[in-house]
Amino acid sequence: MDGMPPVTKCEVENCFYNRDLQCHAPAINVGGEHPNCDTFIPMGNHIGRQGTGTVGACHVSQCEYNADLTCVANGIVVTHHADHADCETYEPRG
Ligand code: SF4
Repeated sequence: MDGMPPVTKCEVENCFYNRDLQCHAPAINVGGEHPNCDTFIPMGNHIGRQGTGTVGACHVSQCEYNADLTCVANGIVVTHHADHADCETYEPRG
């Protein structure tokens, strides 16, 4: 796939970048040993940007949608996990 995959939905409404269940960060980073959204920042106010988010980089090399530390899914969904945000599209390699 060319270009960065869209964040098609994000359920983490207390994040600065979230409005109406859409991520409006230009690009997010997903990362580490656990597929969490590293760009998540809980704030009372929200971004004014209209454009919706994409996945800039992903460090979760054990995901089947990861190639060269880059996400190649058609799109991802981000959801709550404890007090942070996780990529729900994560799929361990079979
Ligand atoms: S938690 Fe991540 S995907 Fe969701 S709105 Fe915030 S930056 Fe975007």
